[in-house]
Parts: sequence; C-alpha cells; structure tokens
Amino acid sequence: MIIIKSTLDYLNTYNKQLNSKKIGFVPTMGYLHEGHLSLVKESIKNNEVTIVSIFVNPTQFGKGEDFNSYPRNTERDLALLKETGTDIVFIPEVEDIYPNNHKSLVEIGIDSDFTNKLCGKYRPGHFNGVAQIIIKLFSIVKANNTYFGLKDYQQYILIKNLASTFFPYTKVIGVPTIRENSGLAMSSRNTYLTEDEQLLASSIYKNLIMISNIIKENVTINHLSLAKLFNDTLLKKSSLFTPQYLEVYDTNLNQINTYIQNQTFIGTAVYLNKVRLIDNITF
Ligand code: AMP
Repeated sequence: MIIIKSTLDYLNTYNKQLNSKKIGFVPTMGYLHEGHLSLVKESIKNNEVTIVSIFVNPTQFGKGEDFNSYPRNTERDLALLKETGTDIVFIPEVEDIYPNNHKSLVEIGIDSDFTNKLCGKYRPGHFNGVAQIIIKLFSIVKANNTYFGLKDYQQYILIKNLASTFFPYTKVIGVPTIRENSGLAMSSRNTYLTEDEQLLASSIYKNLIMISNIIKENVTINHLSLAKLFNDTLLKKSSLFTPQYLEVYDTNLNQINTYIQNQTFIGTAVYLNKVRLIDNITF
C-alpha cells in the first residue's frame, strides 16, 4: 500500500503508474468503520486500483461544530485499509488542499432549493464545503468510479450532480448503509456515545421503519403529522433525544404527497444529548 501525503506526490505517482488504469476512489474523513470499508471493498471488486483519501475537511464544518474534536486515528485507519487491500492512501494536509490560507476567488453556489431541505437547511454552508472538497479531490484523483455511502443521501445526490456537470468521466456509485446489529447506522460520530446511548440511538432507525410502514398503508403523505409522530415516539423513549427534522421526498429529493413504491425517501437528523445523528430509508 502506497501512502501519499501531498497533491504533487499524488500527481507524480499518477503520471508514472496510474495513467490508463481503471481507478476506484473512496473519499473519507477517516476514523474508519465497516461502513467505510464496504465502500473500499466495492471499489476493489470493480477497479484495477483503489485509492482512499483521508481528509477532515474544515470547510464543511460550521461554527460550533466538531471540526477540532472530530475523531482521528490515522495509524488504525492505515492498518484497516492495508488489511482490506487498498492500493493507495492519499492523506493531504489542509495547507496542501487549500493553499494561500483558503483564499480563493472561486465561490461555489448551490441551488437554494437543494440547500433549503434536510441537512442543507440546518447546516448552512456545509454542502458548499462538501462541493469544494469534492471538486478539489476529483480534480486530483481522476477516477473512473467513486463510492459514496447512501447514509449521507443528500451528499450523494449533490456529488452525483456535481460529477455529471464537471467530471463526466467519473461515475458516482451509492453504497447501502452498513448498520450495527441494533439497526443504528454506523458513523465515526457514534464514538461520542456510550454503549447504552448507542443502543438507545437505534430507535431512530426503528422509528423510520415505523413511519415508512404508515406511509405504505396510507399512501397519502401527511408531512406534519408524520414528523410529529416521529418526534413524539422518540421523546417517549427518552428525553435525551432532540429531533431536528423528519422530511419525506422522492429519491431525487423532489416534494411528493403520495407514496411511490421503492422511490420514497425519508431523511432525519436527531440529537442524542449533544451528538447529531442522521439516518434515512428508501422504500
Ligand atoms: P465520512 O468519513 O463520514 O466522510 O464518510 C466517508 C464515506 O463513507 C461517505 O461516502 C459516507 O457516506 C460513507 N459512510 C459513512 N458511514 C457509512 C455507513 N454506515 N454505511 C455506508 N457508508 C457509510
């Protein structure tokens, strides 16, 4: 496994060794778990070379969010990636990705219809930061296939659209969410929770299933009453929960008022104590 620590080193390796190979690319922020590794395995299965990046991207964190405390353990990540069969790990520094102290003349604007829903609404600037790092990474790693978790569904839709506009040679593949036995979606941020809290957090997915069953039965989607039922059920379970949103769309994130089989999507964000957890379901 080759470890590359700067853009220039990557470009030299690319020019020497990677040109004309079928490249799979998995961008991550590290502190890897089985969810990340399922993306890596998918890439290894379908490409000649698999590249994983580890970069905690400062521009996608808002003020007061957890950029400084975000869990990091590069040594453990590298061991896991080696064991999984990764070919190249790209671990750049912030100054390498954003030279000149982030001063850039380019602002990324995202359609407000997109940023006014789901996480976009509650994390202003977040998806601009995501778009920024993806444009940067995709420009460096000219991959044939890239792999993203459907757990971050709005992010996946954004990157799919970005790629089709700016990187037409790069395919964006969504990989299903890997869960704990309890149903809790795996996340690096789960390490902020105690074992008991993690078990409690599994009610989020159970409640998503409950709401999806109601939508299937009723066909008509009553957005307000579903969100209220979701919140009330969680709060009855524990007062440690603070639900942030529950929103229902079709799988392209367009508004819908009736159920469409296999194309109906519910996304949610819930705080457990101070830890923000997101999850979703398509049915
Ligand atoms: P992150 O390190 O949180 O930026 O995640 C890197 C990639 O792993 C993103 O494409 C995530 O959507 C994906 N990912 C995170 N958690 C999971 C999970 N539980 N199952 C599948 N993919 C995941």
